[in-house]
Amino acid sequence: MPSKRCYYEVLSISKSADDGAIKASYRKLALEYHPDRNPGDEEVAVRFREVQEAFEVLRDPDKRKRYDRYGHAGMGESPGGGGGEDMMNAFGDLFGSIFGGAQQGRRQGGRDLRLDMAIDLAEAARGGSKTIEVTRKEGCRDCSGTGATPGTRVARCRTCNGQGVLLQGQGFFRIQRPCHACGGRGETIPDPCRTCRGSAQVDVRQNIEVKFPAGIEDGMRGRISGYGEAGPGGEPGDLYVFYQVLPHPFFQREGSDLHCEVPITFSQAALGGEIMVPTLLHGPNPIRLERGQQNGEKVRLPGKGLPNLQTKRSGDLVVHVRVETPRNLTPRQEELFRELAAIEDRDVSPQRKSFLDRVKDFFAGTPASDNQRSTDSSTSTGGRT
Ligand SMILES: [Zn+2]
Ligand SMILES: [Zn+2]
Repeated sequence: MPSKRCYYEVLSISKSADDGAIKASYRKLALEYHPDRNPGDEEVAVRFREVQEAFEVLRDPDKRKRYDRYGHAGMGESPGGGGGEDMMNAFGDLFGSIFGGAQQGRRQGGRDLRLDMAIDLAEAARGGSKTIEVTRKEGCRDCSGTGATPGTRVARCRTCNGQGVLLQGQGFFRIQRPCHACGGRGETIPDPCRTCRGSAQVDVRQNIEVKFPAGIEDGMRGRISGYGEAGPGGEPGDLYVFYQVLPHPFFQREGSDLHCEVPITFSQAALGGEIMVPTLLHGPNPIRLERGQQNGEKVRLPGKGLPNLQTKRSGDLVVHVRVETPRNLTPRQEELFRELAAIEDRDVSPQRKSFLDRVKDFFAGTPASDNQRSTDSSTSTGGRT
């Protein structure tokens, strides 16, 4: 991009010019450089955009202040002046009275498009691409973006005299309304282009391959430049892709780690053993349970998480062990549990004892280290005195 001219220079005004002077100069130059008056002249089209951009900044007190202090560097991301909606809104009022707002909207640089793309967790872990169909507006080639059949002309609207608005009311109270005859454009097309039906734009369907890296996170964005909407003569905008990584029914993501919960039975918890757990990309994977595995304990599977975007190293799969209390016992199971309960009454397991001891110590106010042996049958709230 060539170095940019000073905005004041572009509008041929002094740095102390007031709002009125800025507007006046802008109107004059915009009319002079308007593409309608200079069809096909690319140099003038560049001038025209330059003038628009300068005006867009200098008409806004905040932006002007920033520009005065920092120059072009202070003006943010859209240095080409091809901002989408903001630009259109900024110009709507003024252009409405000169050329017609909608008409002007088409003359701007292209609009950016937003595309939301859902990716499931496995796709996010692998990375890859998806082909999506995008429908976007492009300038109609048949009428060179005028909306009029080639050889015919766009006419000034007679109802509003090209103003795009009508004044209604009497005395002090007058309301501006968009002109009903031309829809606020200020012009009419007696013989509309058949291809675009006078809109000067056509819908184009296109398949675009959108790539995403392995380890992509929910809420990330990508930009595909040049795939936004284009106005005739204007640069196309960009396509912004918003990635949404869908939640998984079994795995929860935490950075590059995955978490999941795996239920085990009482006997598995007590005796230990090996169980198979699912992984996101690598099929079932065995994990070893300790003897006396406790509810909520974690078992890590290194490298079975998702890749980190920066380091490319994969995180871990963290398996949270959940000991399930059986609900529907068979008669035999019940028999065994009752037997177990009978034994437990007399012979408390070491861990259970230490728990009881700790409870006792808590109520007695003695530190846990010099706990004394308690009777096995005592209950937890026994020793309050
Ligand atoms: Zn009109
Ligand atoms: Zn057309």
